[in-house]
Amino acid sequence: MPIADQALVKKMNRKLILDEILNNSPISRANLSEITGLNKSTVSSQVNELIEKDFIFEIGTGQSRGGRRPVMLVFNKNAGYSIGIDIGVDYLNGVIADLEGNIILEKSSVLSDSSASEIKEILFALVHDFITHIPRSPYGLVGIGICIPGLIDSNQEIIFMPNSKWHIKDLKRLIENEFHVPVFIENEANAGAYGEKVFGTTKNYENIIYISINVGIGVGIIINNELYKGVNGFSGEIGHMTIDFNGPKCSCGNRGCWELYASEKALLDSFSTEAKNLLRKEIVELANKNDVAALNALQNFGFYISIGITNILNTFDAQAIILRNNIIESHPIVLNTIKNEVSSRVHSHLENTCELLPSSLGKNAPALGAVSIVIDHFLNAAAS
Ligand SMILES: [Zn+2]
Repeated sequence: MPIADQALVKKMNRKLILDEILNNSPISRANLSEITGLNKSTVSSQVNELIEKDFIFEIGTGQSRGGRRPVMLVFNKNAGYSIGIDIGVDYLNGVIADLEGNIILEKSSVLSDSSASEIKEILFALVHDFITHIPRSPYGLVGIGICIPGLIDSNQEIIFMPNSKWHIKDLKRLIENEFHVPVFIENEANAGAYGEKVFGTTKNYENIIYISINVGIGVGIIINNELYKGVNGFSGEIGHMTIDFNGPKCSCGNRGCWELYASEKALLDSFSTEAKNLLRKEIVELANKNDVAALNALQNFGFYISIGITNILNTFDAQAIILRNNIIESHPIVLNTIKNEVSSRVHSHLENTCELLPSSLGKNAPALGAVSIVIDHFLNAAAS
C-alpha cells in the first residue's frame, strides 16, 4: 500500500476509535476491537497515541469477564473548550462548553439595532471575558462558533442580514485575527438544528426540521443526519414561502411571506397598540392571567405558524418538527393551537409519524450548535 494511503487508513482508524470512545465511554480496548472490527494491535497503538495527545485517559477497572480486569478508556471532555455565540437581531447569547457540549458558563444581553462597530465591540468584549473563565486544559480554547440570522455562503462570508443594521461580510477573519483560533460562521437556524441533532432530545432522529421563530423565521433542515444547506448555503429560507400571493410586500422582494404573519414580530405588532409596545414577556404574563386579547393574539400566532408547518410537513415527511421560540416554550396555548390546526389540515399518516416538539435546548440551541461545529472540527483535526 502506498505511504499516503497508509497514512489515510491510520487517520480513519484513529477517528473511528475516537468516535466509539466518545459514544460508548467508558470502554475497554477489547470492546473497541469488537465494535470497530480493527485488530487488537491497531486498537492498542491508536489508543496509546490518543492517550499521549490527552484526548482520552484510562480509569480504574471495568467488568471482569473472568480473566484480568480490563482497563477502561474515557473521553477527556476537559481536553479543551469552545465558545458558541448566537448573535440575534435583538439579543446576544454566548456559552462556553467542554468537548461534550456541557455548558460551563453562559451570558446573554439585549441588542438594540446595533451598528457593525458596536457588534464588533460587544462580541470581542464577550470573548475576551469568556477566555478568562476557561479552565486550564491541554488545548485551551479550541475554536469559536458564531451564528447569525442571515445568509452565509459556502466561504462562510455573510451575504445578507435582512433584519439587522450591521453587516460584517468577513466576520470570520475579523474574529480569527483577534483571537487566533479557528472560527466558524453559521446561519442561526442551521446551528439550532445542528444543536438539537447533536445534544437535544431528537439526537437519535435522522430527519428533523428546526423552526426558529424570532423577528423573522428561519428553518434548519437535517436530512439523513446531515445539515442540508443547499448548493450555495442558502437553504431553509422557508420564512419567505408565500402564504398569500396578494399579501403585503416583504423585505425579500416577495409578497405575503410566511414570516409577515407568523414571526414573533408579527405577533407583537398585531397585539401592541400605538401607545404601547408590548414585550413578549408581557404578552405571556397577560395570557397567564387569562387576558382574552392576549389569548386571542397567541391563538392567531399559533394559527399562522400552523399554515407554514402544514407545508413543511407535506414537503419533508420528517420524524420531528422542532419549534424554537420563547413564547411557545412558556405558554402551552400556541403549541396546542398549532397541533389542532395542523391535524385538521394534513393527512393523518403524516401527522401520526411526525412529532411536533418545542426546542429541548431552548435559547441555547443555536449557541450549542455553533459549539458542536467547533468540536467536530477540532476532533477531526485531532485524529489526523
Ligand atoms: Zn419575504
